[in-house]
Amino acid sequence: MIKNAIEKYQQEKGKKIQLKAVLFDMDGVLFDSMPNHTQAWHQTMTELGFRCSRDEFYLYEGATSSYTINRYYHRVHGRNVSEEERKTIYHRKTLHFNALPIADPMPYALEVLNSVKAAGLIPVLVTGSGQKSLLDRLNKHFPGIFEQELMVTAYDVHHGKPHPEPYLLGLKKAGVEPHEAIVVENAPLGVQAAVAAGIFTVAVNTGPIEDAILLKDGANLLLQSMEELYRNWEDIFSTIK
Ligand code: MG
Repeated sequence: MIKNAIEKYQQEKGKKIQLKAVLFDMDGVLFDSMPNHTQAWHQTMTELGFRCSRDEFYLYEGATSSYTINRYYHRVHGRNVSEEERKTIYHRKTLHFNALPIADPMPYALEVLNSVKAAGLIPVLVTGSGQKSLLDRLNKHFPGIFEQELMVTAYDVHHGKPHPEPYLLGLKKAGVEPHEAIVVENAPLGVQAAVAAGIFTVAVNTGPIEDAILLKDGANLLLQSMEELYRNWEDIFSTIK
């Protein structure tokens, strides 16, 4: 499976992968924070009278708040949310989010990061999040892994995922080309962004989303957890080499 995925990518691009950097998404990859995000969104939108299921919000992971809110606004009001309404709604979502217990690091994220570091590769963070609390916690849970100048957050980009800009900026910060990196992502929009940036994309399906969605969005390799990535890391790394 791994060998085939790598060969297929290399054939498509007409280039061999020369691995130098690994670009990591944060929510749902390094931290088990998506249950909190989806619960906070579901609570907020339900209170406002919008009919929705919690699982829907896993599909919008990485999207801007206007994108997410407009999904429901269009259906019910037939128009976009105004900036003032968006701010109020997003504020409520943040309050609900902050009231939840702090998310744990994803099991085996540290082991994966340590393997990447031990292999002499550059770990890069590429998140659409601007949640300060999570960024501060990176260094606490994953000490010595990410350097400040090798992080791309919501504050650094004009376009969020699924636009390739966040991943292209991640490559630029690491000083590498698309075929010199791989991406680890869990969300459909994140996979789209990474694939659009031309990078070999490993999807780890850590939430309730169907595998077929991540594959349709172009994931080159699909795994079920960070533990599975950790257990296959040597295989992936040696196959690329
Ligand atoms: Mg994510």
